[in-house]
Amino acid sequence: MEGSSSGRLRDLPSVDAVLKAPAALAMLERFGRAASTDAVRAALADVRAAIVGGASRAPDAAGLARAAEAALEGEARSSMRPVFNLTGTVLHTNLGRAVLAEAAIEGAVAAMRDPVALEFDLETAKRGERDDHVRALLCELTGAEDATLVNNNAAAVLLCLNTLAAGREAIVSRGELIEIGGAFRMPDIMARAGAKLVEVGTTNRTHLKDYRAALSAQTGVILKVHTSNYRIEGFTAEVGAAELAALAGQANVPLMNDLGSGTLIDLSRYGLQKEPTVREAVREGSGLVTFSGDKLLGGPQAGFIVGAGALIEAVNRNPMKRALRVDKIRLAAIEATLKLYRDPDRLAERLPTLRLLARPLAEIEAQARRLLPATTAAVEPAYQVALRLCRSQVGSGALPLDTIESAGLFIRPTNGSRSLERLAGALRALARPVIGRIEDGGLLLDLRCLADEAGFLSALSALDADALA
Ligand SMILES: *Cc1c(COP(=O)(O)O)cnc(C)c1O
Repeated sequence: MEGSSSGRLRDLPSVDAVLKAPAALAMLERFGRAASTDAVRAALADVRAAIVGGASRAPDAAGLARAAEAALEGEARSSMRPVFNLTGTVLHTNLGRAVLAEAAIEGAVAAMRDPVALEFDLETAKRGERDDHVRALLCELTGAEDATLVNNNAAAVLLCLNTLAAGREAIVSRGELIEIGGAFRMPDIMARAGAKLVEVGTTNRTHLKDYRAALSAQTGVILKVHTSNYRIEGFTAEVGAAELAALAGQANVPLMNDLGSGTLIDLSRYGLQKEPTVREAVREGSGLVTFSGDKLLGGPQAGFIVGAGALIEAVNRNPMKRALRVDKIRLAAIEATLKLYRDPDRLAERLPTLRLLARPLAEIEAQARRLLPATTAAVEPAYQVALRLCRSQVGSGALPLDTIESAGLFIRPTNGSRSLERLAGALRALARPVIGRIEDGGLLLDLRCLADEAGFLSALSALDADALA
């Protein structure tokens, strides 16, 4: 439609006319009348503003219906939608950490769909305990006397400290006063737990005698924290859990060991650096051991507390426990995940976290070679792509200095002035966003975590090469 702007405004179809257009049928069917009407109104308002602003063309009813439908589709898409994690960080906290095993997904779905015997003993028809679904399993897998669980490991630490040391003192080495991702700082958690922090030793060296000198009638707990996201090197000394347990035993105070990532198996079997296992921490004599569900364990978010029966009982009696408890959906996923550990020989096949961490370099390299031509075709001529050897990391603070050999696609602008941000932005804008990492003047797509190769290729084919040029 050409002519004066007032003429173009007058010629615009009404909301009703747009909704009656055949092009609007699918939208009405999918989104309903109310939302479709609002979207058409908004589309018309946009066009009116454009005309007033000098636009010389106005869409017809079909064009307006398509614009409204596109807007509704955009809103319908979850902002938390699935992405391709090609960052090279397997347990990426901002991308939701561990991807769950199929058995865990099935368990969670079943618990969502139907009523379940969550706190109901099917034998006696009496009230049961929700923890009982995983209690025996956790004891079996860790060698602990008893076990319980809460929302996440931060909650586990908070709850244990509050139970053991509210109004009392908690002794911890200055070398272990960790911060994990901003809000979780050990001194702050202590304060919120109502415990008085008693720091001992120095940043690089703490000795048994430092702990011994700090013991008093006010001591509620000795806390050991696995420094999972950093390492102190050089002239250092720390006191192991076994020695601390002996000291704690003499003083008749509990030892709590926050493992953070906490793995249930010896990772060296899969070519990874060994992390202390939960079983070892329990055996060393820690009264309570805390660890995450969604780090190396590869399950959903959760905080596990295992240890001595009397201490677990005290934790469970704490009224805060109820506020921190886990829901049925996650409980079902946790139970299924833990059961996979009963068959260590097939664990790497079934548990995505372990499968991804243990993926051999040769396999990733072969995948990079396979994907090179299609990726090149998708970003040419503005960018060029090369196979690149790189290093992945575990993530979530686990094994921070122990990176794993990997391979990826390295995309660089052919003309140095072009922005990598534009490319990264275009990849993030895909229906299933592709998230890489920028390094050395290029965008690196580490392929360690790419399972769905066909999906990746189909996502790439939607990349608008003209917009990149
Ligand atoms: C990660 C971590 C936590 C917090 O665990 P979340 O599961 O993230 O709540 C606490 N302590 C240590 C040592 C950790 O590594």
